[in-house]
Amino acid sequence: MDTALFDYVRVLYAEEAVNVLAQYGEQAAVLAGGQSLIPQMSLRSSIPHVLVDLGQAIDLRAIEAHRDHVVVGAMVTHSMIEDGLIPDPMTGMLSYVAHGIAHRGVRNRGTLGGSACWADPCADWPTALIALDATVMALSPDGRRAIPMTAFYPDAFVTALGPAEIATALTVPRGSKLARWGYYKVTRTVSESADAIAAVVFDPERDVSRVVLGGLKCPPVILTDLADELRRRRPGADALKLDACKAMIEHVPALRDLNLHNYAFALGRALRSAFVS
Ligand SMILES: Cc1cc2nc3c(=O)[nH]c(=O)nc-3n(C[C@H](O)[C@H](O)[C@H](O)COP(=O)(O)OP(=O)(O)OC[C@H]3O[C@@H](n4cnc5c(N)ncnc54)[C@H](O)[C@@H]3O)c2cc1C
Repeated sequence: MDTALFDYVRVLYAEEAVNVLAQYGEQAAVLAGGQSLIPQMSLRSSIPHVLVDLGQAIDLRAIEAHRDHVVVGAMVTHSMIEDGLIPDPMTGMLSYVAHGIAHRGVRNRGTLGGSACWADPCADWPTALIALDATVMALSPDGRRAIPMTAFYPDAFVTALGPAEIATALTVPRGSKLARWGYYKVTRTVSESADAIAAVVFDPERDVSRVVLGGLKCPPVILTDLADELRRRRPGADALKLDACKAMIEHVPALRDLNLHNYAFALGRALRSAFVS
């Protein structure tokens, strides 16, 4: 199906985009890589009257390397991350996650900010960025603010952004030399949503231990008890077995009524990558 008719505005700066959004209110939507929005517009599940194209907004592609964190512009594509064109904050985790997204055509156009803001619980970046304790840098006509990824998703497909507010960048803390991570996604084909995702980030030097499950019906869930347990002791071989992983997650409310198998499998693989390999 064709999209409904819409007006098209191409902006050169993030500030211009939020001014246009403020002018048109809920009738306007920003376009990043279009890999999620355009299919929805074709299905007429989304019918913006004004499309604000961020593609030429050079400030949204900025990349900054700082001593303790990296800033990645919202319009940086999955391919750029996959190809290592941004400084690596966590020994290859970002490029690994990017490489697992769909196929190269989607990765060439799809963006980090677009994926974070689409807020699909089955997408890769929401789970990975929560595990990495990333922060969304946001801009609205009222100014700039920072929103931790842990507070960015009130619900599935919903973000904490206000009506005329956009994500300008994501900041990702740098891991120490001792940092370890694991990431595993269960999916049938590259074009399908993930059935389960698990991400583990463990960095004793920064006192960081985080385990996140994604691919749920709700936003990604942080498993704090398990993360605390990992602080106390590393998982032995028995803890990585499927039944042991099922036992670790069977009490999680977000998993009630779901088949635990895929989540337990993903968790076991992510823990293995972080602690064994
Ligand atoms: C065949 C196929 C397979 C896919 N497989 C995967 C996969 O395996 N894993 C995965 O994670 N994803 C997958 N995707 C989704 C893909 O990663 C998209 O790139 C991503 O979801 C959206 O990014 P985008 O830049 O295309 O955003 P768009 O589609 O342009 O926008 C998405 C939404 O975010 C909003 N938005 C965009 N940028 C901003 C911003 N800076 N500030 C505020 N709001 C913004 C838009 O208004 C829109 O509502 C797949 C897509 C396709 C078509």
